[in-house]
Amino acid sequence: MGKRGGAGTEYKDKPPEQKKDGTVVKSYQRMPTQILNEWCQGQKRPKPEFRGVRSYDRSLCRFKVVLPDAKDGTYSGSHVVDMKDVEGGCATSAPEGVLALASPSLLAQAWTLWPHRSRARAGQRWTAPYAMVILDGPETLTSEDQHSCEENVLAFFKHVWLSGAQAEICLQREAHLAWLKRGFTSLPPNFAGLDPGGEDASRPWFVFWIAHAMEVLGDFDDHWAPKVASFLSHCQDPTGGFAGGPSQLPHLAPTYAAVSALMVAGTEEAYQVVDRAAMYDFLMRMKSPEGGFKMHDEGETDMRGCYCAIAVASMLHILTDELMEGIPEYICRCQTWEGGIAGEEGLEAHGGYSYCGLATLCIAGKADALDLHGFLKWAVHKQMTHEGGFQGRANKLVDSCYSFWQGAIFPLLHEAFRQGGSEKVPLPKDHCWFAPEPLQMYLLLACQHPAGGLRDKPNKSADFYHTCYALSGMAVSQYDVSNHTPLLGDLGNLLERTDARSDQRKKNQAP
Ligand SMILES: [Zn+2]
Repeated sequence: MGKRGGAGTEYKDKPPEQKKDGTVVKSYQRMPTQILNEWCQGQKRPKPEFRGVRSYDRSLCRFKVVLPDAKDGTYSGSHVVDMKDVEGGCATSAPEGVLALASPSLLAQAWTLWPHRSRARAGQRWTAPYAMVILDGPETLTSEDQHSCEENVLAFFKHVWLSGAQAEICLQREAHLAWLKRGFTSLPPNFAGLDPGGEDASRPWFVFWIAHAMEVLGDFDDHWAPKVASFLSHCQDPTGGFAGGPSQLPHLAPTYAAVSALMVAGTEEAYQVVDRAAMYDFLMRMKSPEGGFKMHDEGETDMRGCYCAIAVASMLHILTDELMEGIPEYICRCQTWEGGIAGEEGLEAHGGYSYCGLATLCIAGKADALDLHGFLKWAVHKQMTHEGGFQGRANKLVDSCYSFWQGAIFPLLHEAFRQGGSEKVPLPKDHCWFAPEPLQMYLLLACQHPAGGLRDKPNKSADFYHTCYALSGMAVSQYDVSNHTPLLGDLGNLLERTDARSDQRKKNQAP
């Protein structure tokens, strides 16, 4: 006793065991499940619990093993909390269900028995999305919310699996379009009827969310374009940029929404609404000494500012080196230890800000300034194991709007690696690192509101923001880098492609 491992340690093998049926099992023939059981016994922990876990692939069998904490709290120390979200392992086919039990057991042993330091390094190799090891800490409000959210979402999935009602995996296109069009026509034809300086500071956003959702559904027809153009012209400030309403301060967020909506309208008349010279002055005026962009005069500087300013400059063909100065350095300073990008330096990595920072650098052709491997590792872990949708940050609930903010990160990362010299990294040719069908399953089964529109998650109501970004995220997941369409359900579910490449294609087709 005394010595635990290291030089001179003697390890003694156990004698062979005779089973009830007469077979003799030598110690090296013991199943990983049995070894794990014995380890828990030795540690005076409760027995390991094996739970079936939904597998993305029906031919695969999948289990997770939970090593509950001892009741007396002996194991709720910090080392256990550290290991809470470890995922890894391997998939096995159904006839080898025993192996599906064995693989999480093996992993559990590796994670509990290995020295603490080598775990961190070895953990990076385990990226296969099957089999989980979860070391339960005490229940918290967060874990309880997560469980009830999983149950709500799974209830929608179960209904379809048990009834075999494949036809229900169907995009309710007509219902969504009717709901969006009602939203569009309820906006007043111009701002005359609105209280100047009133509370409604996000009219350009409503126009963009509705117009873009209709575009993604393939039904934004030309008769909307003059309405969008005249509507938004009332929000432009004489000193450049757009405001949330008439007589309000110009602000980068409604500026991005207005210019994007005018691009969706796509007519010469819409493009001419923008005073490009004044816009350039406004963007330069918003540049902040900290390196990013302020949202408005005397406003806050954060990652949204960078994306709104640079995306607008790019759409209007006024992007210059002067505008980009200091931006890559600023964005790199906001990349966190997790790998994603935070709203401001020193804060937590977040899906929306990560999209903004990465998209800004991709537009400028400077995305390889980031730690792309760290970014990718963070992003792949934001797709939820049960729900299939994305969360925005670690330990948060699934939310359909992150289908776009997180989902669109993958093709951008593909582009970012390419900008860094794709010969350095073997890039996937057929997919973009995340699982498209589970995402579509979440959106189609759990997020469509029967009365039209899409919602954040079950039990919420539909809104234009979530409808726009859920549909955009679904569109991203339906087209991979090789132009294949990983599609859940039939062709009627296919949305329009909206990325830069397809914009280019549209331009090339234009007379
Ligand atoms: Zn949301």
